[in-house]
Amino acid sequence: MKNNKLFSKLILNWYKKNKRDLPWRNTKDPYKIWVSEIILQQTQISQGTKYYFNFIKKFPDLKTLSKSTESDVLKSWEGLGYYSRAINMLNNAKLLKKHNRDFPNNYNELIELKGIGDYTAAAISSICKDEKKAVLDGNVFRVISRVFNISEPINQPSGKKIFQEIIYKLLPTKKIGDYNQGLMDFGSIHCTIKKPKCNDCPVNIICKSYKLKNIESRPVKIKNQAVKRIRNFNYFIIEFKKNIYMQKRLENDIWKNLYELPLLESKKKITKQIIKKFLSSNFRITEIIDCVFLKKINHKLSHQNLNIFFWKISAKKIKLENEGKLLKTPLKSVLNYPFPKPISKYLNEYLFT
Ligand code: SF4
Repeated sequence: MKNNKLFSKLILNWYKKNKRDLPWRNTKDPYKIWVSEIILQQTQISQGTKYYFNFIKKFPDLKTLSKSTESDVLKSWEGLGYYSRAINMLNNAKLLKKHNRDFPNNYNELIELKGIGDYTAAAISSICKDEKKAVLDGNVFRVISRVFNISEPINQPSGKKIFQEIIYKLLPTKKIGDYNQGLMDFGSIHCTIKKPKCNDCPVNIICKSYKLKNIESRPVKIKNQAVKRIRNFNYFIIEFKKNIYMQKRLENDIWKNLYELPLLESKKKITKQIIKKFLSSNFRITEIIDCVFLKKINHKLSHQNLNIFFWKISAKKIKLENEGKLLKTPLKSVLNYPFPKPISKYLNEYLFT
């Protein structure tokens, strides 16, 4: 491809001048780079940095992480979403330490770990040991599609394959880690989705889309027609003698292994009668005095919109000891458990206002 060498040189020069001072940039420790990469998979840098500092403070190395509990790790992940990422990290740490291994820094070993795909393995190995691996994230797709005017859709297997081949051809012979980070940073802060800084761009001398004036239409993406699923979650605050009842969510759909309040998912609005029947048949709570509606929250996830209704349940007596479905927790320590963001937010409001 024409201009391959010039492209990587321009990116490396740009990175030298514009490198962001991010906490994980001052280390080659693959464990720390791994933590940063997993956090940033679905998160903006501004939000992710806070989580990175907290995570590293709590779990400074693989050994500490391997000795932690699922609840501890999920608590530090609370609010970040995609909680399976945190579970995978914990399981990887346990597995590696069981075999007396350190966290790997090479692609072949990294790709074997759960939750690490081609992008993450390439990023860690190139950053830590300049392994000749190319990274392809949303920012890289955008830069490459514009500079080389590629009209293949980036969200189709055929398009991905073409981009994958191109980025490998563009790799420089050295400073691979800097080049990869530079390319991602360049896309994230210079060749941005909206209003890229084209007139003040060192790459514009070779940028085809800039010359053709078709930047707005690059990259090409086939529209996803998937309709978001709408769900109604009714959560019950059952407070009794300074305790609250909660459960661990085991469903595979969302928030697996986090804690939640007793839940009734419904197709439509529910009545007090339905609530009483549900609590009686599922948890054997029979002596209910009242069910009071407290609040509705709308919570958007990538593929689902949740209508969350909180209800307060007052009961004369609660006898659950042998049921095993609900966990009785003192009110003062309930927030030590990891909850999905909308629930912890509401519990905070409920308990402290
Ligand atoms: S000229 Fe514009 S579109 Fe081309 S690389 Fe630079 S910022 Fe991106």
